[in-house]
Amino acid sequence: MSDASDASADAPAETLSNKAAKKRRRREPPPDPTPLPGLVDAHTHLAACGGRDAESVRAILGHAQAVGVDQVVTVADDMVDARWAVAAAEWDHRVYAAVALHPMHAGDLDDETAAELEQMVRHPRVVAVGETGLDYYWPGKSDDCASPEVQHETFRWHIDLAKRVGKPLMIHNREADRDLLDILAAEGAPETVIMHCFSGDRNVARECVDRGYILSFAGTVSFANADELRVAAELVPDEQILVETDAPFLTPHPYRGQPNQSYCLPYTARAIAEVRGVSEEEIARLSGANARRAYNIPLP
Ligand SMILES: [Zn+2]
Ligand SMILES: [Zn+2]
Repeated sequence: MSDASDASADAPAETLSNKAAKKRRRREPPPDPTPLPGLVDAHTHLAACGGRDAESVRAILGHAQAVGVDQVVTVADDMVDARWAVAAAEWDHRVYAAVALHPMHAGDLDDETAAELEQMVRHPRVVAVGETGLDYYWPGKSDDCASPEVQHETFRWHIDLAKRVGKPLMIHNREADRDLLDILAAEGAPETVIMHCFSGDRNVARECVDRGYILSFAGTVSFANADELRVAAELVPDEQILVETDAPFLTPHPYRGQPNQSYCLPYTARAIAEVRGVSEEEIARLSGANARRAYNIPLP
């Protein structure tokens, strides 16, 4: 989950009909990209994208597969979401799940939720512990968000869980670079760490790369104001890069603000190919292979 607010201030001179047209466009899904085969959406939220039951999940995956996105990892934020994500992974062979308490919901961790999460994480179609980590943007802005201290505790518990079950740790980091890297170092990171929706600068990127972490890039890498993120996307070695939508948030340029879904992944993959000066086929092949290796999932 990321911040979905992309609303720009309305210019005072704007006419009413202009405003209405803009509003309509914002609700409209982006057009299908030209297919780019071999991709895996390394992080999405199918329930928030309109997934309800087996049929609606199949429809989202069918749309994605038509443009080359063969498999997805759907990520849970809380306990209700986690149960749903595991069910979705059972409904459709193209779907895998990641379960954890998002830092916002870090306060939900108690003996009961810990036991249930641990049981879910051991499910064969659950391929990562996530998203967990730290979010320093929301505390103080939202009463529902756990305090940094509570987030630290719950993050440590998730790190330990990932090590015990031998599955990747999928990290959410918002404005918490230093504390997040320090806690990971102090606790000892699991073998595979995935920095979902990587948002750091080149120094954070280098530190993560040196530690062997995987950097997963979302549509933000294509945004006009994301020069520093593009530097990060350029410096990460071939074996340590993933591509994700984080849908329904962070729709890639030029559709920023419109609803995102896994089928939009080729737009972001192409933006990364351009930054790295390689072909789009190469990025699809590379990031797809990395996702299958990191999450230990078979070819479709
Ligand atoms: Zn996130
Ligand atoms: Zn997310």
